[in-house]
Amino acid sequence: MRTAVSRLELREPTSLRDALSMLRDEGPLTPLAGATDLYVALNDGTLEATRFLNLWRLDALRRITVSGETLVIGALATYTAMIRSRAVRERLPMLESAARVIGGEQIQNRGTIGGNVANASPAGDTLPVLAVAEGVVVLRSAGQERRVPFNQFYTGYRQSVRRPDELITALEIPPVEGTQGFRKVGTRAAQAISKVVMAVVRGPAGGMNPAPTVRIALGSVAPTVIRLPRTEAALAAGAEVEEAARVLEGEVDPIDDLRSTAAYRRRVAGNLLRGFWKVTSPVS
Ligand SMILES: Cc1cc2nc3c(=O)[nH]c(=O)nc-3n(C[C@H](O)[C@H](O)[C@H](O)COP(=O)(O)OP(=O)(O)OC[C@H]3O[C@@H](n4cnc5c(N)ncnc54)[C@H](O)[C@@H]3O)c2cc1C
Repeated sequence: MRTAVSRLELREPTSLRDALSMLRDEGPLTPLAGATDLYVALNDGTLEATRFLNLWRLDALRRITVSGETLVIGALATYTAMIRSRAVRERLPMLESAARVIGGEQIQNRGTIGGNVANASPAGDTLPVLAVAEGVVVLRSAGQERRVPFNQFYTGYRQSVRRPDELITALEIPPVEGTQGFRKVGTRAAQAISKVVMAVVRGPAGGMNPAPTVRIALGSVAPTVIRLPRTEAALAAGAEVEEAARVLEGEVDPIDDLRSTAAYRRRVAGNLLRGFWKVTSPVS
């Protein structure tokens, strides 16, 4: 293991205010939450950072609450906390589904939603969920708090609008109407990085809302998590799922890499949509 501890510096704030002051006055400091991503890089010798800000004691960022109609998930909420949360189960069951297939129990006990979002991997399993839930990323620095729509958070491969003096403090999720779905395809259900990961919301139609709302997001098929506006529009306009799956397969442009081929990813993404439609369509 290449973990020469003497080379590393760890700052350990006990309040959010102290953490933000340290980021402002003593930076650059790399935030460290559950360390499940950071430790892999540290161990590989690919982590350039040597100065860290340990967030683990900031209990205020661990809570999962409902404020008015908004589900507020603290950045330090772990997958285990999300699995156990009644508010998550009732309001955002696709997040519970995602949390259950992230890593094994050790990772679920340490890995956080803030770390998954900040790490900005296109394969992060919570990201398609946050994209179709149209969540909001709450960012805080010593002088300011700002809210960025999740779908505007990433600017490119492993790039986001987060500034070095900001922490993600929470994810805010408005009410999600309709049926939610999450599917991950990897070499096995958990403990594997996704080859394709999809979240879908199929909203109700009728009354004042003749066209159903459809929101679809995919991970691991592009440099960032993506929404699929053309496929969503086709389904909202009444296209059959077969036609929509063909639109989807033309809309995504995945790459070949060591985990999978582009052709496989495209085919699987279409099939995930077909499968979701089948289980959520009324029986005629
Ligand atoms: C064996 C194993 C299996 C895994 N399986 C999966 C999987 O199935 N699906 C999946 O999506 N991921 C998986 N991961 C990756 C990882 O567990 C998740 O991405 C996890 O959510 C990271 O959270 P963390 O708190 O450990 O982040 P950390 O490692 O502490 O940090 C990750 C990055 O986010 C930054 N950061 C963390 N918190 C904040 C914050 N509040 N504000 C600003 N920046 C912050 C850090 O500076 C760092 O750049 C796996 C990892 C391992 C080692």
